Amino acid sequence: MTLKKLHVVIISSPGIGHLFPALLFGHRLVTHHNLRVTILAVTTNTSPAESKLFKPFTSNLHLSIIPIPAADISSVVAPDAKILTRICVMMKETVPAIRTTISSMNPLPDVLIGDIFGAETSVIAQEFKMPKYVFITGNAWFTALFAYSPVLDKKVVGQFIDQVDPIEIPGCKPIRPEELVDPMLNRDEESYQVHVDLSVRVTLADGMLINTWEGLEPQTLNAFRHNDIMKSMLKNKPVYTVGPIHKKYEPTGLKGEVVEWLDKQPAKSVLYVSFGSGGTISSEQITELAWGLELSGQRFVWVVRPPNKHCVDGSFLNAGQPSGPVDFFPPGFLTRTQEVGLMVTCWAPQVEILNHMSVGGFLTHCGWNSTIESITSGVPMIAWPLYAEQNMNATMLTEELKVAVRPEVLPTKKVVGREEVEKMVRSLMEGEEGKVMREKMKALKEGAEEATSMNGSSYISTCKFVEDCLSQIDR
Ligand code: UDP
Repeated sequence: MTLKKLHVVIISSPGIGHLFPALLFGHRLVTHHNLRVTILAVTTNTSPAESKLFKPFTSNLHLSIIPIPAADISSVVAPDAKILTRICVMMKETVPAIRTTISSMNPLPDVLIGDIFGAETSVIAQEFKMPKYVFITGNAWFTALFAYSPVLDKKVVGQFIDQVDPIEIPGCKPIRPEELVDPMLNRDEESYQVHVDLSVRVTLADGMLINTWEGLEPQTLNAFRHNDIMKSMLKNKPVYTVGPIHKKYEPTGLKGEVVEWLDKQPAKSVLYVSFGSGGTISSEQITELAWGLELSGQRFVWVVRPPNKHCVDGSFLNAGQPSGPVDFFPPGFLTRTQEVGLMVTCWAPQVEILNHMSVGGFLTHCGWNSTIESITSGVPMIAWPLYAEQNMNATMLTEELKVAVRPEVLPTKKVVGREEVEKMVRSLMEGEEGKVMREKMKALKEGAEEATSMNGSSYISTCKFVEDCLSQIDR
């Protein structure tokens, strides 16, 4: 008797940082674990980069991608609502369309996986009596804070940001109040309640799949398994480490403008500067960054977006959308740096860039996908966190893993001056500190490769997830 393949549906919420790992994880489940996967990609029509991501994944017979247009929320939330609120409302309002798509599948899928913003979709799993899992596109430390948020909500009086001591999470590293995830920075805002509600819902799943690996976060993962408080927060449900989930660099022979330019630069001489799919900085900060890069005398590729003074995640739902003219640099900057710098507007082939032999450093907003891509390319970083859990990621990279330098101020609080930019860039690209970090990166990269190799910890953990799914369904 041949058993039919286990059919898993993965629902991803809007945003490249959510969609890309969902596609990659789905692809891995199909190619390494013999599953059938359907990705329901909830996308906005404002992000040209989202639909472009599908192409490399469409040739696999057992991987289907169904784009689901995100519901129009213009009459439900204020236009200036925070990104977390907007994504969660979008997902909630899109539940009927997702339900219709799933119910039209015959036979029905066996298992449902949603990211944390798709917690609302768990009602569909209940209706169709499917096991439901949460796919965390961030790391374990973030997951610990998230899972423990309902307790912190009751325990901490007043604003978190006014606490004198770091916020304690049982069995895990404490978190400095100013480095908590965005929605926790102001408890009076609507997005704080959205965050707490999500954190309660997420722990109702049958288990969590986290885009991390055992060697990277042993302390936090140990807490999930052995700390009684953390175990009870997760309702004793399993935690599967499935990372790093990242695009493996495969040379295609096709060279775009950036790679052609990189080909002409010396080995490890170029700093890649990018604030992810959605990060934006103020005009004042662009000026200081430009001056700092110029003063450092180092080569660089900079993915530029127009300034935005009020919103650090201003492009999150419009990734890859063409912007207006590039006229926001200090006078003469483009001419003076034309021999050493390349400006790319809005979107660049990041994985290709990070794997190019000319690239020696990455000034990054520390989105978790970018962080993983830097680690798996062996490139040390300048950590420049902007939103979501990026401050925590920057702390992990600088204080724990010691593979990044960071500004003394939080870039969301204060403009980082040109002298400091110059100092960080020099230290990373030509200083002793950079050399030491590059060596540390080698070991991290090897650990990452090992985790996902056959019989590595993340491979075994994913096998266990598949086994657990099989044991729950009636075949
Ligand atoms: N990315 C890219 N080109 C760009 C900007 C971003 O390919 O110009 C990709 C990047 O490689 C990563 C994802 O978009 O996979 C961004 O995810 P991340 O978690 O780093 O940050 P987010 O954009 O979600 O804040």
